[in-house]
Amino acid sequence: MNIENEFDFEGENRIVSAAASPEDGQDMDTSLRPKTLDEYIGQDKNKENLKVYIEAAKQRGGALDHVLLFGPPGLGKTTLANIIANEMGVNIHVTSGPAIEKQGDLAALLTNLSKGDVLFIDEIHRLPRQVEEILYPAMEDYALDIIIGNGPSARSLRIDLARFTLIGATTRSGQVVQPLRDRFGIHLKLDLYTPEQLATIVKRSAGILGIEIDESGAYEIASRSRGTPRIANRLLNRTRDFAQVHGNGRITSELASYALERLEIDKLGLDNTDRRMLQVIIQFYHGGPVGLDTLAATIGEEAITLEDVYEPYLMQIGFLSRTQRGRCVTELAYKHLGIPYPASPPQGGSGQIDIFNA
Ligand code: ADP
Repeated sequence: MNIENEFDFEGENRIVSAAASPEDGQDMDTSLRPKTLDEYIGQDKNKENLKVYIEAAKQRGGALDHVLLFGPPGLGKTTLANIIANEMGVNIHVTSGPAIEKQGDLAALLTNLSKGDVLFIDEIHRLPRQVEEILYPAMEDYALDIIIGNGPSARSLRIDLARFTLIGATTRSGQVVQPLRDRFGIHLKLDLYTPEQLATIVKRSAGILGIEIDESGAYEIASRSRGTPRIANRLLNRTRDFAQVHGNGRITSELASYALERLEIDKLGLDNTDRRMLQVIIQFYHGGPVGLDTLAATIGEEAITLEDVYEPYLMQIGFLSRTQRGRCVTELAYKHLGIPYPASPPQGGSGQIDIFNA
């Protein structure tokens, strides 16, 4: 059964999608990106630890240990990688797991690095296995073992590399294989941001973009941004349009509420897609449990998109729970949707689990 049409799922094109979107404008992410750790808002524990690691590496005059960043899209992994390079005073080379198809692609990148440089690999869990194999000695011994030729005439060639720092980012740490994970000395897990932190990000971005906004306007946008800075910046931009056309250009809480209602984003940051997904589980599966693959097939989305894009926030606000038998909608979500909670609630409990390590 595929009810995509009936329910009109919008996937990654949603305004509250955490993935970068062409509509953000090419420069939005770049111009709003903080450049130093002090400008980077939130993630305090990670920031404090990083400061120590960076200072220590600088004092030793060596490269920073390899860093693995994990957390949902739009939380600031790429930003943090750039900040690390900036604070270390080195160059950053940016690529992603799926872009490195062959061992030769990675070899070309690695041999181009100078001492201390950062190589940032986004979506590192999508690196092909045979590429991963040459990454291990590169990370450990700063050397590349390349096989030249094949059959009996094949020989192995060792190329020494500059001491570099690999920064890997992933939305799913569970898919980074253990041998790769073990080779990162520093593991940082980014958490969803609080509305207060997001309000600070919104005010900072408004300052950079020359948008007039008051405290309550910033908070209104922040509280509907699903804990994600990229969404906060996008909602700020869209709200600015409404402020320009329907107001005097200044974003107040009334103006922000009006704009976000027009965009059909509710008080908690849920859009139609979230509400419909919850409704599907309620209507077709009596609130759950329903297996991820079954749910994905029912709504015509990829299981991976459900897990990365829809679920983290719904779980964070306690609307969805993940049990051994599948996903369940919680009583809170029924209340939010105005649907009576059944007398015999869904099987499977409602405990929240660590979604990034599962
Ligand atoms: P990811 O790589 O995790 O998908 P990005 O690093 O691209 O996320 O961040 C998306 C946008 O959110 C950035 O352009 C930046 O403007 C903003 N952002 C992310 N984290 C922060 C932060 N801690 N403080 C301020 N802005 C942030």
